[in-house]
Amino acid sequence: MDSIFSPPLHRQRHQFVIDFVKRNKPKKVVDLGCSECSLLQKLKFHREIELLVGVDIDGANIKKKMHGLAPMSTDYLQPSYDQLRIELYQGSVTQEDARLRGFDLVTSIELIEHLTLADVKRFSEVVFGYMTPVAVIVSTPNSEFNPLFPRPAGFRHSDHKFEWTRAEFKSWALKVCLEYGYEVEFTGVGQAPPGQQERVGFCSQIGVFHWLGGRQECNMLFGDDAEDVFSYTLLYSINYPSLHDNNILQRVLVSEVLYWAEKMKRNWIEERTGERDDTYTLCPAEGEGEECLRASERHMEMEDKQTVYLTAACGAEMKNPGEHQESELFWTNGEGQQESCKLRRCVSVPLAVLWSCCPKLSALSGSLSNLRHVLMDNPEVKLSQDGSAVLLNDQEQDLEEEEEDHDDLEDSGYAVCSHGAEPEEDWEKNV
Ligand code: SAM
Repeated sequence: MDSIFSPPLHRQRHQFVIDFVKRNKPKKVVDLGCSECSLLQKLKFHREIELLVGVDIDGANIKKKMHGLAPMSTDYLQPSYDQLRIELYQGSVTQEDARLRGFDLVTSIELIEHLTLADVKRFSEVVFGYMTPVAVIVSTPNSEFNPLFPRPAGFRHSDHKFEWTRAEFKSWALKVCLEYGYEVEFTGVGQAPPGQQERVGFCSQIGVFHWLGGRQECNMLFGDDAEDVFSYTLLYSINYPSLHDNNILQRVLVSEVLYWAEKMKRNWIEERTGERDDTYTLCPAEGEGEECLRASERHMEMEDKQTVYLTAACGAEMKNPGEHQESELFWTNGEGQQESCKLRRCVSVPLAVLWSCCPKLSALSGSLSNLRHVLMDNPEVKLSQDGSAVLLNDQEQDLEEEEEDHDDLEDSGYAVCSHGAEPEEDWEKNV
């Protein structure tokens, strides 16, 4: 049936809801009779929604595709401040459940015609009388359109208990409005052929209900004395990653810091060895990047002349901070004994430079001291003793060490081969 419309009728119904969501920006939305969650799949991209719920009496139907509602890898890699929780319940719209009260939008797309008339009355009581959402969208087949289908008379689906004319739908909707304090607009999707629209109406008729009381009065309805009923079974729930979650914010900050610090370090090393690509810029904003780069270079040079060569034993008191080469240095351990150790050279990237160069870092952390605070507790980031700079291992030294390791291996008489490669057989000799 859908194929006679372009786009197909079910898509037009869903698009109608999406357009409503775009205009009205509801935060809490529940789709009743969500079936295989196809409308929810589309709504999850509208991140003004913070709570998205699906309900269907048929739990098996929900389970078929519910995992498609899980966050995608990009949601984890680039989380935003938006918060989204999705919940799916198995339950009947004829029963009350306190978790569905006080929503901004309830959708019931091609559901009511699957209920007996007694259950439609119950549906009205539950949705409009108990859940009392700010808005409700109800779609149902318009039986006046049916003669236009090239098929035998009868309902559009074997499970339909009725199909209403426009007048029947209007009569039910106006009664609901009167009883529960709503107003309704009638519309639809699935246009009739030219010249017939007025006579037969839309293929799917739609009522858009608005509560006359408004959201604040609606919330006041749910006093403490309201008895909480939980008749639905939770089948699935998921929280989307959000920067409001401190763990996620911390993870994003750390990876941004390490990324930018590494980038600055590499640039600085290349500059010193004359390998720097002149087109390299550190910051996304034009002009600002070069400025930041120069600032960081100056700062790193300065650090270099002082104590760029910090230690693996951070926290120990250095006795010989002026030493510039990798060498044996001495410091006292906690018990006052002198110990020696080969120190690694480190590049020190000042947090202030990172903070001012990377707009994302400053936006996410709010202040330099917040940023320092987050990094201090994180084992992936090494900070200088006063917490003012990120310390990174000197790449040149890492490379030198790699080469040394390589030489050691060759000296040992073992051939170097790539990981997991089989030793080559000299098979030609056997031919
Ligand atoms: N709303 C879906 C969409 O737009 O893709 C399609 C709905 S489908 C035609 C009707 C759905 O209503 C079925 O999944 C059925 O299981 C569900 N249903 C029937 N009676 C119900 C009830 N009493 N409570 C909740 N869901 C019900």
